[in-house]
Amino acid sequence: MQEALEYLAYLQERYTESGARSLSGHPVKVDYYHPWDEGKVAHSILIGMINSGIPSSEQAERTEQVMRMYKAAKEKYSRLEDLGTVLIIESLRDRMVTRFNQLSLALPGEIVFGTLPFGEVHAFYQRSPAGTPLILFNSGLFTFLNLLAKALATCFSLENGFKGKELVRRAQDLKSPGVSHASRRFILLMVAYVIEGRPDNAPTYALKEDSDRVKSVMLRDTAELFLFAHELGHAHIGVCGTTVVEQLGQHRPADTKPPANHLEELACDILAVQAIMGDPREDWYPRMDRFYGIEMILSVFGLMNELQPATATTSHPSAESRRENIQAYLAQKDASLGKEFALRSKVLRTAIEELWIGYRAFLEQYPPMPDDTRTR
Ligand SMILES: [Zn+2]
Repeated sequence: MQEALEYLAYLQERYTESGARSLSGHPVKVDYYHPWDEGKVAHSILIGMINSGIPSSEQAERTEQVMRMYKAAKEKYSRLEDLGTVLIIESLRDRMVTRFNQLSLALPGEIVFGTLPFGEVHAFYQRSPAGTPLILFNSGLFTFLNLLAKALATCFSLENGFKGKELVRRAQDLKSPGVSHASRRFILLMVAYVIEGRPDNAPTYALKEDSDRVKSVMLRDTAELFLFAHELGHAHIGVCGTTVVEQLGQHRPADTKPPANHLEELACDILAVQAIMGDPREDWYPRMDRFYGIEMILSVFGLMNELQPATATTSHPSAESRRENIQAYLAQKDASLGKEFALRSKVLRTAIEELWIGYRAFLEQYPPMPDDTRTR
């Protein structure tokens, strides 16, 4: 593990020095937060609690609890990982590794998790030079998912599906009162992420309505689980070999067989769906509503492919074939599951596409500044 952590720290410093690029090719200044000062960590935990309205009577005890968890986690992370990321990954690890065990899906004994500023929404799986599996998330990815979930949460109701144009109007001007709250938030997020390469630059805010908060947490939670479990899927295939890929990657009613790496991606999606659908938080929000969060991830990949079609098509199947594959898998398990997925997927896709149109209109009006130092 030590070797893998050192390798990760080396990669993080390389990326930071060589200047990471945003999706639109602008240089990104990455200033990794050095979190291992315990005073600072305790302070930021406290700020987080005040922001989420935890009563002061509970703050001291909870801070202590999180600090204990944090100290235990420290050994497993590079020193550049920030607190928020460590806590999210630890919780995802607990939930999803448990699910993989329950499903008897073998995983390597040791996996190192961390972040790199590689500028894409993706996470990826690789091995350190000595062979330790590494799962790396784009730094800022969790912030991005959180803010995207919030923007989307106000655009549809769980009962009636997408609320439509009454909420999300085209963005002609950010200052115009005609631009919906959701659209404005989405534009700010896309500018921070796609252009600046730093989702953390987008302003954070709290949703007013309780029902929107529930939807945003549900979307974010499932999206995080899906990404995490998909990467664990790669780790599982690394242990079990390609039979799994052949079995799980071909639910899509395809006329041609996808290339091997695409097939593996499709198989990892199915493993992720299997893991998520049986996660014990079932009682917290309806199981079927997890389909919204899965679709949020697929939709984001679809949008990113529009920005970078070449790289996306060689490394990953299209969002559409990933969607078809998941739907076909669910339908095969239970016809009604397939239908429910298709329904929710359409609702969320409509919402995100509408927000995307607003962003495009904004870009036409205010194109990004040309950047002289751009090299690709
Ligand atoms: Zn993958």
